[in-house]
Amino acid sequence: MTLSIHDLSVPEHLDLSNKTILVTGAGDGIGKVAAKTYARLGASVILLGRTVAKLEAVYDEVMAEQNLDEPNHAEPAIVPLDLNGATPSHYQQMADTIDSQFGKLDGVLHNASVLGLIQPFEQIPEKEFHEVMQVNLNSTFFITQALIPVMKKAQKASMIFTSSTVGGKGRAYWGTYAISKFATEGMMETLADEFSNSQLRFNCINPGATRTKMRATAFPAEDANNLKTAEDIMPLYCYLMDDSSADISGKTIKAQ
Ligand code: NDP
Repeated sequence: MTLSIHDLSVPEHLDLSNKTILVTGAGDGIGKVAAKTYARLGASVILLGRTVAKLEAVYDEVMAEQNLDEPNHAEPAIVPLDLNGATPSHYQQMADTIDSQFGKLDGVLHNASVLGLIQPFEQIPEKEFHEVMQVNLNSTFFITQALIPVMKKAQKASMIFTSSTVGGKGRAYWGTYAISKFATEGMMETLADEFSNSQLRFNCINPGATRTKMRATAFPAEDANNLKTAEDIMPLYCYLMDDSSADISGKTIKAQ
């Protein structure tokens, strides 16, 4: 059963201080806003993405909002990685660095994805299929494998995957992207079941139509002013990182 944010009792005050949270695709769109929002709630954020200039801009924006007089102000970390070329050994190095610098990892937002081409199934080129699956699914699998040991060091840890409406109901011409999102939901449910007696929780967010570059590419004729912004959908992204959602696992939840 798919839930929506409206089915949940989200507390008014959420607190992510003393948490370290990794966000993939943190340079743009929903990931950028999530990283900034987590930092605003006190988290140390690790910004993973493929375009260094974008990550540096997010770093600057986060730092501009920090109170540098506070001894505990949190400086973001940057992990420049192209998920299309990165290998499990890159993710293991990243996990080792997080372990040595932070000692634990409280949250992961698997957000980075590519849309790929929207086209008839019979015409999907092999290269296109492999690239979309590599970025949207395979990298998520191997990042998760590498990071679980360091997440086990946190008292309560939350991993959020990002799905889509086409991750629960197939749609013509959305072949590779839709398949990658169905598989993402399957991975999340498998992990939630496997770790049901642990401090780790796994959920999927379906952001819904949100004003970003990806949405504009998928629906070029749409008036973006009628769409929710990434800021509008942050309550669910924050709630699922906050300890108040510790009992929720194995769910796909709509953010709007
Ligand atoms: P955007 O295209 O705006 O942002 C995607 C982010 O992922 C960018 O920061 C991009 O980096 C990064 N990224 C893409 N490919 C790679 C790669 N190979 N390596 C590392 N980083 C990469 O997308 P949205 O913000 O709209 O989407 C965020 C998530 O939400 C996605 O998982 C998407 O499928 C999902 N979603 C979005 C909806 C919407 O309406 N916007 C609806 C349903 C689901 P760079 O900027 O450097 O290219």
